[in-house]
Amino acid sequence: MGELNGKVALVAGGGSGIGRAVVERLVAGGATVVFCGNVADQVRATETEVRAGAADSSAGGAGAGGAGAGGAGAGGGKPAVTGVVADVTSSADVGRFVDDAANTHGGIDILVNSAGIQRYGTVEETSEELWDEVLAVNLKAMYLTARFAVPHLRARGGGSIVNVSSVQAFVAQDRVAAYAASKAGIVGLTTAMAIDHAKDKIRVNTVCPGSVDTPMLRWAADLYRGKRSVDELVEEWGRSHPLGRVARPAEVAELVAFLASDRASFITGASHRVDGGLLSGVPVVLPQG
Ligand code: NAD
Repeated sequence: MGELNGKVALVAGGGSGIGRAVVERLVAGGATVVFCGNVADQVRATETEVRAGAADSSAGGAGAGGAGAGGAGAGGGKPAVTGVVADVTSSADVGRFVDDAANTHGGIDILVNSAGIQRYGTVEETSEELWDEVLAVNLKAMYLTARFAVPHLRARGGGSIVNVSSVQAFVAQDRVAAYAASKAGIVGLTTAMAIDHAKDKIRVNTVCPGSVDTPMLRWAADLYRGKRSVDELVEEWGRSHPLGRVARPAEVAELVAFLASDRASFITGASHRVDGGLLSGVPVVLPQG
């Protein structure tokens, strides 16, 4: 670990699920991390728990945070993790989140966008309000965070932006019109930004997970479980992935951390699947015997 020593990272949507795992992984790698979320209690709890976990790892030496991430980050004596309550659809909130982090820690090197919501409906079932809500949280927010963060990344001589999309950018379940549109939009935004900001040495990539065991997935399983338990439906969804299970958030965070780091120095404008082989198969089975 320690490949992110001296880096300042922002994580939008870091209070739970994939975003929280990214916060933990970046801190373990030595970064100073400022994350945001729109649920105040969740933001406070995650900040406290990640600080405690990082301090334990640091004290123990053998854990993921062996780089000593718990005590002080790149800011020298400042806490390595700070949670901020901010709504990523609000330009004012995003501006405060980004600019305060840059001012406090002397700049920004990494931006990870993981805030998102899942809503179900065909286009007929999707009200304009719902469409606007999904596109605002899942897509417009990535434009807003980038708009504020790019000048800071450029001032550092470059950096890395990682946007969390989904396999549903490319293939769809039933009734995900707004969600799939938002996730495909992230892929387009990412490639456009990669081209525009290559000259600034800012790399921009998309991560496209299959099913990941997070509060969002369990909320969706609860909606659709019928007589099954949430655990049973999550396991059933897992069996539809060639590796036979859903992902752990940390498995997505590992890819995000790699793309955020200088180890990915020639990788930009690309969509990276972390899907247990889900999109590698076709559902046409050869007859046996
Ligand atoms: P999650 O619900 O655990 O995390 C999403 C986070 O976004 C939450 O902490 C929430 O508070 C935050 N958020 C939502 N609206 C916000 C707003 N307006 N302002 C600030 N923060 C806001 O879900 P997750 O599964 O970790 O999802 C993270 C990302 O991964 C999402 O973009 C999701 O679409 C994507 N994704 C998830 C899966 C999966 O199976 N879980 C699969 C593919 C992609």
